[in-house]
Amino acid sequence: MILEIVNYPDPVLRLPGERIEEVTEEILDLADNMLETMYEAQGVGLAAQQVGHAIQMAVVDVSHDEDCVTYCRVNGEETALADICPLVFINPEIEPRGKKETESEGCLSFPDLRSDITRPGEVTAKVETLDGDILTIETDGLFSRAIQHEVDHLFGKLFIDRMSSARKLAIRKQLKEMQQDFG
Ligand code: ZN
Repeated sequence: MILEIVNYPDPVLRLPGERIEEVTEEILDLADNMLETMYEAQGVGLAAQQVGHAIQMAVVDVSHDEDCVTYCRVNGEETALADICPLVFINPEIEPRGKKETESEGCLSFPDLRSDITRPGEVTAKVETLDGDILTIETDGLFSRAIQHEVDHLFGKLFIDRMSSARKLAIRKQLKEMQQDFG
């Protein structure tokens, strides 16, 4: 089922997600629906807050381009993106690392906005799967960026928080319009 994506400035986007202690039928259904919704919106990631749930679950799929990373290790083993994506994860702990990189980012909750965002280029992410496995994912490139962006969402943080002050000033009008649309 395609879910409605929540747009900025809906307050649910600012809520830190609760940890998921039990993977219920509802969680499994929500995960399926989030994947379907992400693909339909042609995004590479979607967090539960973006469909109205303040819980620590997100989906990411960057397997359309194996070359969008230079490496990907899962529990220490070299892994193809096609084998780890689509990634549905809960209760993440991440450690961004490496040299900072600036790339253009979008967000499904900000339909007409793209912006250069600077983040550490690599990440070590310890996540749980819906099957109860614990995965340690080490990667760079778009996979690292997408994981960092989605984990920000799970803690109520948005990519506008990571923009330079000049960029924030430049998009002030656009954000104001979104606030007015939201009513
Ligand atoms: Zn986003």
